[in-house]
Amino acid sequence: MLVEKFDFLEFLRLAIAQGRGEGKKISKDIVLGEIALMPKHSRMWACLLIEKIDFERIAVITPAKEQYKWMVSKYNPDFEWERRIEDLPGKVEFKKGEIKSADFFRVRNILASEIVKEMKKKKFKPNNAQGDLINIAKGLAEVVLRGNLLVKAMCGTCQGLGKLELFNASGFPCGVKPCLKCEGSGKRPYTLHEKITIANLNVSKSGYSERYYQFEQLGESIVAQWENEIRGRLSRTFNFELVA
Ligand SMILES: [Zn+2]
Repeated sequence: MLVEKFDFLEFLRLAIAQGRGEGKKISKDIVLGEIALMPKHSRMWACLLIEKIDFERIAVITPAKEQYKWMVSKYNPDFEWERRIEDLPGKVEFKKGEIKSADFFRVRNILASEIVKEMKKKKFKPNNAQGDLINIAKGLAEVVLRGNLLVKAMCGTCQGLGKLELFNASGFPCGVKPCLKCEGSGKRPYTLHEKITIANLNVSKSGYSERYYQFEQLGESIVAQWENEIRGRLSRTFNFELVA
């Protein structure tokens, strides 16, 4: 009974977080071993779910700057000169750069090629001529991957749980319903403007909703399918251990 309610993707994350914890039956190695046996694409997705996505760290270096001040002679107001004063100190700041993880882009390309297939089938023509379909598809695939892998922010409505608890008239909990605000993801979704920026598209918000969004949805459905394969695999493997 418990197992049916259990989300095996959460379980995957849990096992990974616990690592080689002592006394734990399920370690990261065991979960990785199971994942290794899955079909290629869902295996790659599982690996992305486990690994932290790396970003480039860019050091922005501002060197120290010489400073001068105009001085006026006490004795002769027409006599001015520039005197060097204390340097403005330099600084080093770190900025988050582009995604560095090669696996992220491998999976993005898999998703993009599926999206292109669908675009061709539907005879999709981009709103603006800006390169070929594959570039647009890569942009949309990136929107899907980022939305699933990177937490922009927690959903405020459900506090990141993805579901809301229901209470009956007497104030007792009587079930849960998925949070509509975040569609059960627990994350604050990207806005249309953010999606268009991530995908690097030259299109209006309404243009995106009407014509491009369908391909983002296709990407989401492919990811959902991979996740179901992962859930299926893990539940078949670990069901017994959890019930025992
Ligand atoms: Zn929510």
